[in-house]
Amino acid sequence: MLPDIKSLTREELDRQFKAWNEPAFRVAQLLDWLYVSRATEWDAMSNLPKALRGKLRENFSLKILELVRQQGTPDTTRKFLWRLADGQFIESVLIPANAALYGEASDRHTLCISTQVGCAYGCKFCASGLNGLKRNLEPHEIIEQVLAVERWHEKEPRSTPPAEPGPEAPQPKSKPDAPRLINNLVIMGMGEPLANYENLIQALKILNAPWGGGIGARKITISTSGLAPQIRRLAHEPFQFRLAISLHGATDAVRDRIMPVNKKYPLRELAAACDDYQKLKGRMITLEYILIAGVNDALAQTYPLAALAKRFYAKVNLIPYNPVEGLPWQRPSEEVCAGFLAALEKQDVTATLRQEKGRDIDAACGQLRLKTEQELEAQLKTEAAE
Ligand code: SF4
Repeated sequence: MLPDIKSLTREELDRQFKAWNEPAFRVAQLLDWLYVSRATEWDAMSNLPKALRGKLRENFSLKILELVRQQGTPDTTRKFLWRLADGQFIESVLIPANAALYGEASDRHTLCISTQVGCAYGCKFCASGLNGLKRNLEPHEIIEQVLAVERWHEKEPRSTPPAEPGPEAPQPKSKPDAPRLINNLVIMGMGEPLANYENLIQALKILNAPWGGGIGARKITISTSGLAPQIRRLAHEPFQFRLAISLHGATDAVRDRIMPVNKKYPLRELAAACDDYQKLKGRMITLEYILIAGVNDALAQTYPLAALAKRFYAKVNLIPYNPVEGLPWQRPSEEVCAGFLAALEKQDVTATLRQEKGRDIDAACGQLRLKTEQELEAQLKTEAAE
């Protein structure tokens, strides 16, 4: 199988073009086609000589994601289901103009992307882990989620709210320095990002580079369910990515119940890794906390949660649970969620309660994929029976 061209950094392409005796400016032209024009076929790269296009075609693939399903409305979260080249499905979620989410107030389009097909970590409340891990995503498959959403947006210009005039407004795509539609990335979709460490870092290098995605490191949030050794490894990377911990329980008793990863890396160890991360990076950590009725929503839980938040100078994102078909967990009432938030605030913790925008679109991570796989399976069974 050929490596995909979008899994390569500029340095790697420079080396390849040098070996082919191609002038250096050709790399810049190629990168322009890949990340500015978002070309989907070699023949579209009209300013590259035909012979060079031939060499590229022989040595690299240029795979794109196939949009299978798309759900949502112009003013809400949009969910995309993509088919990969080997027929597997992954999801990405576009969250427009959500100032209060992960970045600063100017963020206009946040994209939540997947890093694996399925997940091995089996959190009890999550649809992504229900059928286990199928495989890691390659760097180009992580990157393509951004490019594919931007291609979709170009074709449907009125499908998300128009950007206000100013520095964030999309420019004609022919401008090499045009800002991207996606200016904020959250690595929190299907899969445990830090379990696909090398491919994730390679993809983020490319998405962060000015010649690639051009998304600032501080606008990229990596989330983990708590892989302590990889958190320490991430601390040594030369990037200022943001770190979010999918905590969902502030005691071992709660995390053990809903997150098997806690048996391997209990809170003590996770917290020590976060301490080390902060010492090296000096960066604020975000704590993600899905509120699940009767599991982690008691006011008593706000005390250990507040203690952790203060230890890490962390902001807490409270997310009311999106029920998953076939799983027993429920979303707490609005009053319970508001009470939980108020109790944290009373303890001087910075916290937000996410106004869920995706409740009606199978928004819980992995649900759309699961539904589509089940439908396809049923269809195959019906066809076989006929
Ligand atoms: S919550 Fe994240 S780590 Fe846990 S099973 Fe789902 S995708 Fe995997």
